[in-house]
Amino acid sequence: MKFSGSHILSISQFDRNDIERVFEVADRMVPYAHRERVTKVLDGAILGNMFFEPSTRTRVSFGCAFNLLGGEVRETTGFETSAIAKGESLYDTARVLSGYSDVIVMRHPVSGSVAEFAAASRVPVMNGGDGSNEHPSQALLDLYTIRKELQHQGRSDLDGLRIAMIGDLKYGRTVHSLCKLLCLYKNVTVVLISPNELKMPEAIVEQLRQAGHTVQESDVMEGSISKVDIAYSTRIQEERFASPAEADLYRGRYRLNQSIYTRYCEPNTVIMHPLPRDSRTEANELDNDLNDNPNLAIFRQADNGVLVRMALFALTLDVADQVDKAARDVNWYTERRF
Ligand code: ASP
Repeated sequence: MKFSGSHILSISQFDRNDIERVFEVADRMVPYAHRERVTKVLDGAILGNMFFEPSTRTRVSFGCAFNLLGGEVRETTGFETSAIAKGESLYDTARVLSGYSDVIVMRHPVSGSVAEFAAASRVPVMNGGDGSNEHPSQALLDLYTIRKELQHQGRSDLDGLRIAMIGDLKYGRTVHSLCKLLCLYKNVTVVLISPNELKMPEAIVEQLRQAGHTVQESDVMEGSISKVDIAYSTRIQEERFASPAEADLYRGRYRLNQSIYTRYCEPNTVIMHPLPRDSRTEANELDNDLNDNPNLAIFRQADNGVLVRMALFALTLDVADQVDKAARDVNWYTERRF
């Protein structure tokens, strides 16, 4: 795809070469994200970060990524503080905000709304999550993490990957985008573990099958996670249910903890989660007793989000090959933490 000036709305826009390009640029962002070098390549550019649904990681990491490239961030969070609460249309909001920003990231509770907004925008728009539809930057950082974790184990290939996705596969937009992304690879085994009512949408399962992948569906976690490279846990998306009581029916159905991991998983199975993990006792899908498990990759996964989002900005704003030219070493005290 042509990155320069493009919206990033769906993972379906990417082919395998595009993914390689994003990952190659993300790798080059390490010294900046790790606070060894500073670049000003986006000096003067403004990101409009518009989040109409709760977010911590996606919002802050998109903002940090832009700042780390030398740009400025302007934010709107929630409907209450935006003119949308006064009845303004997405069209008008997009027309106006695209005059104030060079690129916009948007999260919205309604599927398809970010694409509608992008159609009226005069600058590139990135989808930070639209309802239960898609979360393309998350899928990219997930695959980047999978690749890094496997490389760490001495495996270089994503073809032949075996992955289990656990939890709310009906409403979880991260697993929707990740499945679409996996369709670009070969011979993948996808084990879909969910309550019957929260199964992966049939259209996505069909896409996986069309790609030649092996798809297994189950409503039991133990046993189904015994032969996978990656166990990808997800949260029950309570905000998509008619009532909290309905979400309660499923909360806590799948709880991965150290003893289940030791008993059922292969010793190198990598544990992932898009976060936030729901740590309340009634849910606890990923127990804190996994925190010392070296295969718990959830925080490395979140760190990787900055690299991948920096790459997306650098490519979309067409500065990927100029980042190092506008750089210097950092001169403040900084803890080694990566
Ligand atoms: N943070 C992810 C998302 O926005 C996952 C989640 O909220 O459960 O989709």
